[in-house]
Amino acid sequence: MEDTMRREMKIAFAALLAMGLAQSTETLAQTKAPDDFRVTLLGTGTPIPRPNRFGPSTLVEAGSEKLVFDCGRGCTIRLFQKHIPLRDVKLFITHHHSDHTNGIPDLWLSGWLPPAWAKRETPFMVWGPKGTASMMANLRKAFEEDIQIRKADEKLSEEGISSKATDIAPGVIYDANGVKVTAFEVDHGDEIKPAFGYRIDYKGKSVVISGDTRYNENVLEASRGVDLLIHEVSMARPELLERSEAARRILAHHTTPEEAGKLFNEAKPKLAVFTHFSTAGGSGPDAPKESDYVPAARKVYSGPLEMGEDLMSFVIGETVRVERPNSQ
Ligand SMILES: [Zn+2]
Ligand SMILES: [Zn+2]
Repeated sequence: MEDTMRREMKIAFAALLAMGLAQSTETLAQTKAPDDFRVTLLGTGTPIPRPNRFGPSTLVEAGSEKLVFDCGRGCTIRLFQKHIPLRDVKLFITHHHSDHTNGIPDLWLSGWLPPAWAKRETPFMVWGPKGTASMMANLRKAFEEDIQIRKADEKLSEEGISSKATDIAPGVIYDANGVKVTAFEVDHGDEIKPAFGYRIDYKGKSVVISGDTRYNENVLEASRGVDLLIHEVSMARPELLERSEAARRILAHHTTPEEAGKLFNEAKPKLAVFTHFSTAGGSGPDAPKESDYVPAARKVYSGPLEMGEDLMSFVIGETVRVERPNSQ
């Protein structure tokens, strides 16, 4: 009899304990800062086909939205590495240099395939400068044989391979599920117009992606007080600049670390991140080393600054938390 009572008391106590635990977990979930605004660098490179720096591409996850900015070489591989279903991705292009767009056919076509990591059954959504809609229409022509084969053979839907592409103008170009995307014009040289940067706003927090640009006031204005500023950067050795017209031309299309540092000083982002490490001098001995960029910016800027890496993530809450790829 006593044994039974003791057993019952034990059970009751365990139930109370479980309730208490459940309650405290719930309280914890309520008080925990939301971490549903997250940015991941999918590619931090340039046209140089480096295995460790894929083509320019940045993933912004905000609530239920998965927005990708630029789709350089390998963007689809990086999305797969991050377990992002390809069907969920909406794409925004900064400009028409091929290092920012040559991953599009892979994302668009592979995203239509039947496996669970793809399986897009609604149109592929793309925004970008004038020429974006015609690029998507022409890609359709280029891949029409494959599309017809798969529709007949695998019974894939027309809806899933269709695309809705919009040629944009500066201003708010996307506003859904609490996420607002604003395009602003940047300056990537006289022959590359328009080129855009983007600002993404979600729950009072914000991210700016500069796109490819020389030092530009629009980037500065869009970035004042921003939580995260992802900025392109370019360097050349002074001796190469002196003797090479090509080196001077490359640098004239981009932002040096010192110029970026000057902009960061004005904009005061909570965190600045370098990406798109273009080097005059290519990959040869004339090119600056990766370890040269941050010290060059440090000559003028002492605030928070990270050297971007592929698959580095930033969780934006009250602070901006950095998740390094090798710490995952
Ligand atoms: Zn580029
Ligand atoms: Zn470019």
